[in-house]
Amino acid sequence: MFFPPVPDSFKWTTKAGIVALYCQPLAVVTSHLFTTRQAPLLTKNDWVQLSAAVGAHEVLQVRQVHGSSTLVVQPKRPLPSCDSEADVLLSGVPEVAVAVRSADCVPLLIADAGSGAVAAVHAGWRGTAAGAATVAVESLQRNFSSNPSDLIVAIGPCIGPCCYKVGMDVVNAFQAQQHLHHNVDQWFHKTRPLNTSKQLFSLDLVAANFDQLVLAGVPENQVHATGLCTAMHLDLFPSFRSEREMAGRMAGIIKPSCSVKRQGSV
Ligand SMILES: [Zn+2]
Repeated sequence: MFFPPVPDSFKWTTKAGIVALYCQPLAVVTSHLFTTRQAPLLTKNDWVQLSAAVGAHEVLQVRQVHGSSTLVVQPKRPLPSCDSEADVLLSGVPEVAVAVRSADCVPLLIADAGSGAVAAVHAGWRGTAAGAATVAVESLQRNFSSNPSDLIVAIGPCIGPCCYKVGMDVVNAFQAQQHLHHNVDQWFHKTRPLNTSKQLFSLDLVAANFDQLVLAGVPENQVHATGLCTAMHLDLFPSFRSEREMAGRMAGIIKPSCSVKRQGSV
């Protein structure tokens, strides 16, 4: 298997037989992984194996609906149902990891170096337009008294602006939300492919999520991205744009560190 180069903040690894990427600054706080095609994650047992690879007893993953709804794993509370719908998952229970599945959409893993609480976020263009990353930061503040300046974020492999062309409808959807207009202008770049006269835009989902995190108070140097485009590394990552219904899913999984402190009042 060929492993494309990644920034110094990321490393390739094999944990419990699972080939994956991890983010070194995030690993200082807690265990997490971004999986590849090599782990098909089709059966319950596959997920048990993945939970074990990050040192958790179980993992919460739910129905993802391209929004910003949130679910929180709290101590001494029942685990949310796996039939629940959400794209922002938080955990403050060290035994319970949270995971998101993606094929081109942005998987974000967030850890609070102060409280030990974590979040996993699934942000395709709809979730990014809905501000899912911002919602995750706010939910960590509300539920675990997190300070945004303590958050470390890893942005996993996702479709890059090189391969992600969208129409004016997507630009309009972002402009209809509360984003700063000059930010939205920077996330979209005009492009006109040779075989169409239609005006298209290349969308930089990583830049959009990065800017949202920084605006929410996360220090720039604590947000790390792999820079890997899923559509350009089909041997390693599934890509919905390239494979449509045949695309599998990769996972981003993270568990709280052993000492979750400063529980909020919720
Ligand atoms: Zn690409």
